[in-house]
Amino acid sequence: MKFKILGCSGGIGGKRRTTSFILDDSVLIDCGTGVGDLTFSAMLKISDVFLTHSHQDHICMLPMLADAIGENLDRTLKVHALPQTVDFIKTHIFNNRVWPDYTKLPRVEAPWVRFIPLEVGETILLHDAAKITALAARHSVPAIGYLLDSGNTCLAFSGDTTYCKAFWQTLGACENLSHVIIENTFLCANVEGARRSGHMTAQLLVRGLEQLKKKPFIHISHLDANFESAIMREIKVFAKIWHPMQLHNGDVIDF
Ligand SMILES: [Zn+2]
Ligand SMILES: [Zn+2]
Repeated sequence: MKFKILGCSGGIGGKRRTTSFILDDSVLIDCGTGVGDLTFSAMLKISDVFLTHSHQDHICMLPMLADAIGENLDRTLKVHALPQTVDFIKTHIFNNRVWPDYTKLPRVEAPWVRFIPLEVGETILLHDAAKITALAARHSVPAIGYLLDSGNTCLAFSGDTTYCKAFWQTLGACENLSHVIIENTFLCANVEGARRSGHMTAQLLVRGLEQLKKKPFIHISHLDANFESAIMREIKVFAKIWHPMQLHNGDVIDF
């Protein structure tokens, strides 16, 4: 599977784009500002969107994407998310005030967007032997991560989360885990802020990494834009033996 990074920053400005990845040209994982860089023809190939949670930096392009491609699709864009996330987005965005309710428009029987509720532990088949499973996460709103299984090896993405025991237990039990994309928003000095807002620090990261049986590639995302270099320096000290690398827009992971 080809996993391309459209956005992986903790904020915007310059070349920074917020969280969004595209899998095999047809499946989006989160819908941050990176989606806006796709060509129109690339957008038309998207069949499914999997959201981690309802925060703006992960969903902001979904309404615009639906608007851009809806008229040109002869099918509905499927959006998978926790029931609470679906509820938040329908109530606060697709409400005919902030944005048209494309879950009922242009026609109730053939809307442009269809939400499909997803629970932690649920697995959805993508194509061939590929599948995606929702992983537990601990954030300030209901949130999940994802485990992508190509049928060959696995890639895990944490979404936004602080240390989450169930997330690391699942990764620890995964025999063919080859890549982990993990958020690390805060400096260690702000561990209380990280716990309160549901984000990671380098020390919390090490606590999780110690539970992995093997050494997959560790990719760091969602760094606070104000402290990117300082946070990466901390991670490279604390988590040195795992050789963590900062993820960048445009990176492609084959697995
Ligand atoms: Zn968040
Ligand atoms: Zn975020």
